[in-house]
Amino acid sequence: MKLVILDRDGVINHDSSAYIKSPEEWRPIKGSLEAIARLRKAGFRVVVATNQAGLGRGLFDMSTLAAIHERMSDAVAAAGGHLDAIFFCPHAAESDCACRKPRPGMLLEILQRFGVEASKVTMIGDSLRDLQAAHAAGCQSILVRTGNGEKTLKAGGMPEHTLVMADLAAAAAHLAP
Ligand SMILES: [Mg+2]
Ligand SMILES: [Zn+2]
Repeated sequence: MKLVILDRDGVINHDSSAYIKSPEEWRPIKGSLEAIARLRKAGFRVVVATNQAGLGRGLFDMSTLAAIHERMSDAVAAAGGHLDAIFFCPHAAESDCACRKPRPGMLLEILQRFGVEASKVTMIGDSLRDLQAAHAAGCQSILVRTGNGEKTLKAGGMPEHTLVMADLAAAAAHLAP
């Protein structure tokens, strides 16, 4: 099975330093929905793994997150794509949980759930912690320059063998040429 794991904010949709707290604030990055459709048509399962510390901080609740994810799933479906699962870490940054990236907990859970080998899976993210989680889980990683991507690239320190692509559309074209 081919599987790709996507970070959400800054990869699929525009990020906000004030968090995405409502479905209305969820706005897709140009080409990202079509990119997910492209991956699906090439036989990839597409799974989202996102840190949502705003939950842990009480900025929005679980039903609002579900509504945001419904909007995202609907938008992806309207473009011909499909999200096979959405995994999220609901904990605050200081909670020291095993699932918040850069820890690999969510990714390991995804690998187990779908029964895929880590080395065959690519994680696509815009922040160092996405790449670090991928590295810790044994997955490949692609940094996109959208969201925090440019900042991440400038700061350096990325795991070895990290590929850098303009955006999710370019990453999908690379994985599904
Ligand atoms: Mg991100
Ligand atoms: Zn967590």
